[in-house]
Amino acid sequence: MAKLHEAQGKTLLREHGIRTPEGALASTPEEARQVAQELSRPVVVKGQAWVTGRADRDLIRFAADPENAQMAASEILGRLVAGQPVEQVLVEEQVDCEREFYAGVIIDDQAQSPLLIFSSMGGTGIETIARSHPERIVRQHINVKDGLPGYEARNLVRSLDIHGKLLVGLGNLLASLYESASAYDARSAEINPIALTRDGKLLALDCRMTIDDNAAYRHPDLGIEVAREYDRPPTRLERIAWQVEAGDYRGTFYFIQMEYDYAHGDGVIGFHGAGGGGSMMSMDAVINRGYKLANFVDTSGNPPASKVYRAARIILNQGPIDGYFASGSGVASQEQFHSARGLVKAFMEEPLTVPAVLRLGGNAEQRAIAIIERAQAEIPAPVEAYGKDDSPEKCAERLDFLISSYSPPAERPTGRFPPDAAEPYQFSTITGGTVTLDHAACRRCDSKICLDTCIPQILSLEENVPVLNISREQAHKGGCIECLACQVECYFEGNRGGSVLLPIEGL
Ligand code: SF4
Ligand code: SF4
Repeated sequence: MAKLHEAQGKTLLREHGIRTPEGALASTPEEARQVAQELSRPVVVKGQAWVTGRADRDLIRFAADPENAQMAASEILGRLVAGQPVEQVLVEEQVDCEREFYAGVIIDDQAQSPLLIFSSMGGTGIETIARSHPERIVRQHINVKDGLPGYEARNLVRSLDIHGKLLVGLGNLLASLYESASAYDARSAEINPIALTRDGKLLALDCRMTIDDNAAYRHPDLGIEVAREYDRPPTRLERIAWQVEAGDYRGTFYFIQMEYDYAHGDGVIGFHGAGGGGSMMSMDAVINRGYKLANFVDTSGNPPASKVYRAARIILNQGPIDGYFASGSGVASQEQFHSARGLVKAFMEEPLTVPAVLRLGGNAEQRAIAIIERAQAEIPAPVEAYGKDDSPEKCAERLDFLISSYSPPAERPTGRFPPDAAEPYQFSTITGGTVTLDHAACRRCDSKICLDTCIPQILSLEENVPVLNISREQAHKGGCIECLACQVECYFEGNRGGSVLLPIEGL
């Protein structure tokens, strides 16, 4: 679920007729001062961060005049919240509030319909209020075909003993909130609090909205860069990972950073999972040994070797990690030798300079383990591979041992790549990669291992060199599945004439 900042959510509410306090965003303390000056009344300065409890984090300040608004903004802007600097503050008029309410629309997955929630109390600690005063909260599922007619919204408000003008105003507000949530495919849209001012106006003082990841493409105006559930703007590497995932429909690649500011020796692990449950057990296994996780990655659902390669490169490009732990379900149905080839290519090219333990349990795991073990001499740091019979705990123990007994090289080693091609035969792949077969090396190659190991069998021998047996266009459209055999198998069993260049934009 992609989260929206408060200011963005309020814009959507205003589009649907819900009033919000007057104000504007500011990116500098001077701008904050200017907004306060234009409002010429006391203001509240609110750091725009995707976190709850902003008041407790001192991200909300009250200022009686423009000077104080400027000072408050200077103390909030740039502060790190969940690893990201606060880039904007919302400067709004202070509101003379007589009473507060809460309203929310959330998607109830179990009931498969939106659920409208309204409370005659609102403000900080709404969760506690819900527990201590359940009689002050009402809920109603909404039939998406009919929407939320005004009379139904009013009936809901009336059930909390609210009458007269306030009943009409709150009923209209609830109907508008539902319209706005529905128009933007919101998974949740909450206003807390709705303020009733002393002069009888209803204003949305704060709001939180999350948009359904699968619908984010329908709302380019929202500028959602990465349709994933983050509590902060995506990091540089998360943006890069998202581009990898967005450009490749095969399997999944989920990447999120957890630690941002660390050094060698902090006990931070680059984590590479495959499958949710097994990944959780595997993360627990390293955390129980006192390690922290730099990231969470999931490459599952039968991803191609190229996707696993790109995921591994991104994991290794974080801050300095002390180890690499790949461990997933243990009984993956995907053929694990694809993952093994992706990891070997990444570990050789980057190259890997910290110990790695790879638990590649699942289909064809013995072949996967053999691919890793064959590459050990070409990877600067120790790498061990295990299968489904080796528990996450055992693998974590091995990683712990390797880390404690490992001394990194004084100088960073260079990556290992196949030599430059003297007589390149090339074609492009579906994710913008390039396969190169150096026909000069191929002529001298006895094994021609690429022919047998190319999974879709798109290579044939012609005049003693491998060439495509499909058109270049077919190869580009996915005929070449980027299994990396013509690089990895060729490097170890052939004459090093094959290579697959897989760009990662922004890395
Ligand atoms: S294995 Fe390598 S060197 Fe041998 S024919 Fe294939 S690509 Fe060329
Ligand atoms: S040409 Fe064949 S072996 Fe090489 S990457 Fe493509 S599918 Fe794999």
